[in-house]
Amino acid sequence: MQWPAWLKTKGRRRREARSRPFPDTWRAYLAKWVHYYNWLPPEDQAELEGHIHVFLDAKHFEGCGGMTVDDEVRVAVAGWASVLCLHRETDYYPILVSVLVYPDTFMAQGEQEAPGGVVVEDPDARDGESWDRGAVIIAWESLAEAREEGAPCNVAIHEFAHQLDLENGEYDGVPGLEDAELHEEWLRVCEHEFKRLADAADTGRETVLDPYGASDPAEFFAVVTEAFFETPLALRDKHPRLYKVFSRYFRQDPAVLEARASSKPA
Ligand SMILES: [Zn+2]
Repeated sequence: MQWPAWLKTKGRRRREARSRPFPDTWRAYLAKWVHYYNWLPPEDQAELEGHIHVFLDAKHFEGCGGMTVDDEVRVAVAGWASVLCLHRETDYYPILVSVLVYPDTFMAQGEQEAPGGVVVEDPDARDGESWDRGAVIIAWESLAEAREEGAPCNVAIHEFAHQLDLENGEYDGVPGLEDAELHEEWLRVCEHEFKRLADAADTGRETVLDPYGASDPAEFFAVVTEAFFETPLALRDKHPRLYKVFSRYFRQDPAVLEARASSKPA
């Protein structure tokens, strides 16, 4: 018997979503837009595909400013959101209801409440925003250009990292860490590294981290998460302790994957 959708439990609905076949066209979109997918071994690719189904089943996508949100856009955004869920016990961004996609950078909407209700990325034109009232906003061109140019920035990783940060109540750069020892180590390492980045930003010294991460601890978490998945070998090389706490939280070792994909020494 077919149960109506509203009667299904969350767990059952997710299991059903995960078990749906993953279209080959969607795999091609992942290969094009989510290079991390290409780094993963087949069993992790399968896990990621399951997460993408659950994400797309649960979240509403909306095109803004004339943007047409087709499967390619949905799969690319859901792909990056799901990379951050791999190997972890996840509730799939429970606060998030809608993903709003603009064709290009957009101007701020409504009032600014940073660092409370909304994390804004730029006072004028924005690449993305992350709201605590259920929305992530992404400028497609910002994501697409970075992919095409091989740039290490990634607005999708950045905004979904803010959502993870928010899961335990506030934008403070500390996601939900149940392991007390990891929590302690996280605070110790991130405080030290945040100061290092702030010093580098003050003196104009370049590091593997975007100086924007020195804005506040929430931006630090989002920027390090971008580097963790985009340039993991460089992050591990220059900031080994930071890499290690992020690796423990995300339960992934992207530097090994990048080394394998690029034939660099692991
Ligand atoms: Zn941010």
